[in-house]
Amino acid sequence: MDQALEEASKEFLVRYGGDVFPALFRSAKGTIVRDTRGRDYLDFTSGQMCATIGHNHPAIVAAVHRAGEKAFHFFSGMIPEVVAELAQVLARDWLPGDLTRSIFINTGSEATEVALRMAKMYTDGYEILVLGGSWHGITGGASAVSMASDRKGYGVPVPGIFVIPEPNAYRPYVKGADAEAEALANLDLALKLFDMQSTGRGAAIMVEPVISAGGVLVPPQDFMQALRQAADDRGMLLIFDEAQTAFGRIGKKTGSEHFGVVPDIMTMSKTLGGGLPLAAVSTTAAIEARLYERKFAYYTSHVSDPLTAEVGLAVLDVIQREHLVARANEMGAYLRGRFEELQQRYEVIGDVRGLGLLMGVELVTDRASRTPAHALGALTTQKCFENGLSMNIRRRPERGSVWRIAPPLTVSHAEIDQAIDILERALRDSLD
Ligand code: PMP
Repeated sequence: MDQALEEASKEFLVRYGGDVFPALFRSAKGTIVRDTRGRDYLDFTSGQMCATIGHNHPAIVAAVHRAGEKAFHFFSGMIPEVVAELAQVLARDWLPGDLTRSIFINTGSEATEVALRMAKMYTDGYEILVLGGSWHGITGGASAVSMASDRKGYGVPVPGIFVIPEPNAYRPYVKGADAEAEALANLDLALKLFDMQSTGRGAAIMVEPVISAGGVLVPPQDFMQALRQAADDRGMLLIFDEAQTAFGRIGKKTGSEHFGVVPDIMTMSKTLGGGLPLAAVSTTAAIEARLYERKFAYYTSHVSDPLTAEVGLAVLDVIQREHLVARANEMGAYLRGRFEELQQRYEVIGDVRGLGLLMGVELVTDRASRTPAHALGALTTQKCFENGLSMNIRRRPERGSVWRIAPPLTVSHAEIDQAIDILERALRDSLD
């Protein structure tokens, strides 16, 4: 039966362009995912970076049951009580500054579409500034602002998108340059070029507080403040995409809190649903009022679904009750320490970086040249999988080969030790 389904998966599914593991998967619990042959893997990607409270947490299972007793779905004009509650909890306990008004949809891509629609309608503009290496989603508008997205073969992109070079403390664009000074100078130049090309209809600057798919890059504090200023100077809105950074992953409630910079619009997704498709976009009461006046609308079949709202409330409750924001810092420090030990012994580990339990480990052929070790990255990731560790490698041709390590915030010391053992073995075998 397993064999037959493995064959069926090859025959009946549209094949996926990225890395696919050679197995079918059946179940998941905490940090562990299990395939149909009964093999267990440590999940150090938290699924798609969603399972921050661990897979199938009992609180999530109970929330799904609760929704089953009440309702999974209503007409979009019928606001479920649980959605009102989730909006209130977000505003009261999680959102920074004066962000208080939220809308609930399903995925991060959709959240990007909502945020861009809001910014365009609010400013009556359309020009968007984004960072190199950004990832904001795969749908039309979202992929247009995702510089880590491969557009080849998908037709004409949305016009009016401008790129700011992303800050990279380990790999400045000019070799040997002071990375932070370079990042600020690049921003200044990008803004000058933007001002030259702009039709005067700027809508937004959109950024991830930690550029994750682009290689787990943490921008300098001054850079984020400069973005805030740049948006204000031009009457544009600042959008933070907190798909990965909100709700504890980086050891703070949000990326906004980490930088002390409050955006005008914040998108949240992966970490809010804990593995179910829930996303939110939040903004200020003043922006919302103007949008309402202008009849802002975002209708989808699953806007404000009670099922996922019930789950979102449970996820936020678990993060608070289990003190997972603090735990991300504690376990992140432990994981970082273990990688720094490895770095001392392996020349190919060029950089260990990140915040909380969102870590990047950059592989190079040697420390002097910092040449990205792409083949090594692919091989070690495959060997880790063969030995029971699911890991993610981010490869960008000139910009690095980076393991992205992001286990559930509930990960234990023993699980981290086990993962490091598997990883070290994979590294040793690959270098032989
Ligand atoms: N924003 C960020 C920062 C992401 O990492 C992702 C997903 N990789 C998205 C948006 C898109 O989310 P989704 O895949 O849920 O559409």
